[in-house]
Amino acid sequence: MSTHARTVICLLRNDLRLHDNEVLHWAQSNAEHVLPLYCFDPRHYLGTSVYNLPKTGPFRLRFLLDSVRDLRSSLINKGSMLVVRQGKPEDVVAELIKNLPSVSAVVFHEEVASEERAVERAVKDVCAHMKVKVHTCWGSTLYHRDDLPFPHLARLPDVYTQFRKAVETQSRVRPLILSPDQVRPLPPGLEEGAVPTMEVLGQTEPEADPRSAFPCSGGESQALARLKHYFWDTDAIATYKDTRNGLIGVDYSTKFAPWLAMGCISPRYIYHQVHQYESERTANQSTYWVIFELLWRDYFKFVGVKYGNRLFHIKGLQDKSVPWKKDMALYNAWKEGRTGVPFVDANMRELAMTGFMSNRGRQNVASFLTKDLGLDWRMGAEWFEYLLVDHDVCSNYGNWLYSAGLGNDPRENRKFNMVKQALDYDGNSDAGPSARGKKGPSHTPKQYGNRGIDFYFSKSKHL
Ligand SMILES: Cc1cc2nc3c(=O)[nH]c(=O)nc-3n(C[C@H](O)[C@H](O)[C@H](O)COP(=O)(O)OP(=O)(O)OC[C@H]3O[C@@H](n4cnc5c(N)ncnc54)[C@H](O)[C@@H]3O)c2cc1C
Repeated sequence: MSTHARTVICLLRNDLRLHDNEVLHWAQSNAEHVLPLYCFDPRHYLGTSVYNLPKTGPFRLRFLLDSVRDLRSSLINKGSMLVVRQGKPEDVVAELIKNLPSVSAVVFHEEVASEERAVERAVKDVCAHMKVKVHTCWGSTLYHRDDLPFPHLARLPDVYTQFRKAVETQSRVRPLILSPDQVRPLPPGLEEGAVPTMEVLGQTEPEADPRSAFPCSGGESQALARLKHYFWDTDAIATYKDTRNGLIGVDYSTKFAPWLAMGCISPRYIYHQVHQYESERTANQSTYWVIFELLWRDYFKFVGVKYGNRLFHIKGLQDKSVPWKKDMALYNAWKEGRTGVPFVDANMRELAMTGFMSNRGRQNVASFLTKDLGLDWRMGAEWFEYLLVDHDVCSNYGNWLYSAGLGNDPRENRKFNMVKQALDYDGNSDAGPSARGKKGPSHTPKQYGNRGIDFYFSKSKHL
């Protein structure tokens, strides 16, 4: 190593990919050695803030471990390595800087929510103290924060449609940053570090459920394969708008959410692939609708920037007092799928057994918890945070606030009629106990045979 060789530490968090990764790109252009680092931060494995549920449940932890291993093997193929540590990023970065005099900079993607921002401040403090430069990037949304057509995020519209129309007409999606052919080598003499087991991080391997609507594993290569399947191999994207409210099977919706949440796939990559699909195959309402939904994801991130910690506040974004109940018996019945309302119970059991629930299911169980049971909406949000394989702090808390009628758009205060919803979206009772013993529905994908989510009901005990 030349005495002047510089090392840049890439602190990776929810950006576990090589493609469209500005952090890696910046490091490649600014140093002779690149040190991609992932830290298993012990704070991610503590309890949620109000109801003290485990913050990272088994489904998401397994997905994360897959994603980390996948990134490590991709980096090895590019002549590099993912360095893994267990510890707080600020402590790990301090230790690395102390032991590696060549470290010239630390680079990371900025996040939105307060806990992630606190880590960023702590890393910046360490670097300032040790006289190492920090460079930050923005990379989690489709539209770059700096390209929004509002002078600053305090002026973000409180109505989604206004946001969508403004960005669609006045902003543009940036081009993709391609994956590097080779990644610059690690500085010599560095322990790569073992990827911990689930048990070390406080969870056990969940049982695989063959009925899961999300039977996929984590990592960039799986994410890219899923997109290829959904777009190019099956053309499922061309009917997405008609199927997206489905409940059973793998292909009724894209299932991109878990990979997006960990950054295994970039929303810009999806966007450019949609455009390529539209120019080579077909462009219709369905192909556009994938982008329409990605814009909801963007919107919730920017809402998170605008409102900060009010995203987590019991009074929500409207600062509205509601006499929420905290009845643990009702809560347990909801969590365990024992409310006696078939549509709710089936969805809650699916979540507990697979870590996934359809969007339609989520809207219904959230409406039921807040509007029918009258429970504190954060009980629902924290249960989702624990179990969802695709948990994304802004999308989860933002959607829960909408369901509770405390979001930024007061017109969105809707209560779902469970009976009507079950009839509209589950007309064959695939999701309800009445389906027990019946032949499977005609639209159940072949690989699931006759087993719909009605199975999750088989031991239903009602309230
Ligand atoms: C109470 C509640 C909690 C939710 N929690 C989360 C969460 O923690 N993480 C999460 O990614 N989504 C969350 N959603 C949104 C949505 O349910 C999921 O994104 C979607 O079901 C994931 O499946 P998919 O990838 O097949 O979605 P698709 O229908 O294929 O949509 C494509 C992509 O658009 C985005 N998207 C779609 N709908 C929404 C939405 N309402 N809000 C934000 N983004 C959206 C997602 O990134 C999704 O992957 C929540 C919705 C509700 C009602």
